[in-house]
Amino acid sequence: MTEPTMRTLTAYQHDLFEAHEKIISGVLEPSTKEDIIFCALGAAGEAGEVANLIKKMWREDYGNTLSSGEWEVFRLKVAEEITDTMVYLMLLATNMNINLDQSMEDALEKVYTRWPETRPKR
Ligand SMILES: [Mg+2]
Repeated sequence: MTEPTMRTLTAYQHDLFEAHEKIISGVLEPSTKEDIIFCALGAAGEAGEVANLIKKMWREDYGNTLSSGEWEVFRLKVAEEITDTMVYLMLLATNMNINLDQSMEDALEKVYTRWPETRPKR
């Protein structure tokens, strides 16, 4: 796991949404019901791509005999689909005026409340 960077989820949300607005221009109105549906369906589709790769791994389409190079190719495919999923989810959140930095803080606090022994000692 790499060290966290200073770039926030909010910054990614902002930049992705600006690009999204340009991409959908003339096709969809940003932040409308249709755009929200588009992003939710996009996220579901990309999550399905993640699940399909893992299914293939489980079914051993990729076998137990992957070389470390083959495993790395597979791992990067999974990373790409996870990222695609996150992009759509971030766009969905932005469309719905949800601040993901705050949402993640809330989620982490929920974990620490449920499992207090996991709270870092600071
Ligand atoms: Mg994809």
